[in-house]
Amino acid sequence: MEGSKRNSTVSSPPDGGGGSGIGRAVCQRLASEGASVVVADISEESANETLGSLPTDLRGQVHLAAAVDVSSKESVKKLVTSIQTHYFQPPSVCVNAAGITQDDFLLNMEEEQFDRVIQVNLKGSFLVTQAVAQALVACGAPKGSIITLGSIVGKVGNLGQVNYAASKAGVEGLTRTAAKELSRFGIRCNCVLPGFISTPMTEKVPEKVINKMMSLVPLGRIGEPAEVADVCAFLASDDSRYITGVSIEVTGGLFIG
Ligand code: NAP
Repeated sequence: MEGSKRNSTVSSPPDGGGGSGIGRAVCQRLASEGASVVVADISEESANETLGSLPTDLRGQVHLAAAVDVSSKESVKKLVTSIQTHYFQPPSVCVNAAGITQDDFLLNMEEEQFDRVIQVNLKGSFLVTQAVAQALVACGAPKGSIITLGSIVGKVGNLGQVNYAASKAGVEGLTRTAAKELSRFGIRCNCVLPGFISTPMTEKVPEKVINKMMSLVPLGRIGEPAEVADVCAFLASDDSRYITGVSIEVTGGLFIG
């Protein structure tokens, strides 16, 4: 997001997860601050639902919805090109919120379950970060902010999530490396690590597991998507202009220390 938060092009697309949960909350938060938002998701219908929820009354904002599969290089490239066609510039902010789970214990997990989660969560973050960074560098943009969604699970592991934990640990390493390589172009890269947040992704978790987890959260409750979006908005803005290559936990204190 531009420092002034005016006439900025924000994309939650390359993030692909703009149609649900955290990605949707990020789109709403950034739009409420005056950004033009591109909502992208593998489901165009979900992206359009988010689009319909965005405020449009501020400073001539133009929001768009688009379909993207973040695990496909061709699809991500097409999206970034279409953003540039519409706004005559690449997104100055990009939040990668697309993500999936396909849980099973290590002893039972099929190779396809492992591969698909890596493709969407890790390779998707790579493709999106690369495409947006290439576009920003090519047009000589003075700055950019790329935000990835990791997970506290990438740090501490979680039963039944060997694929997901590996993908999210990878996202952190990718983000730190991108931060080192892209800082000379004025592009900052940071990672947000949510704990347990109330979204369609966590609706699949059995209630007894949620209850057990909640007993471990010092703040004593599940998080809201808006609470993750607040941190993304900070990392998108100039308020965080001297911050790059970090991971910020948004967990209510889960697993501190
Ligand atoms: P969510 O509600 O399921 O949203 C994820 C979105 O990504 C969905 O709209 C999904 O579409 C979309 N998506 C899936 N595959 C895609 C692809 N190949 N290309 C583009 N979009 C795709 O999940 P969430 O909880 O908001 O999660 C957002 C991010 O935060 C994820 O990276 C997740 O791993 C991370 N996170 C979440 C939590 C949590 O507690 N919720 C905790 C830690 C980290 P469909 O619904 O159509 O599949």
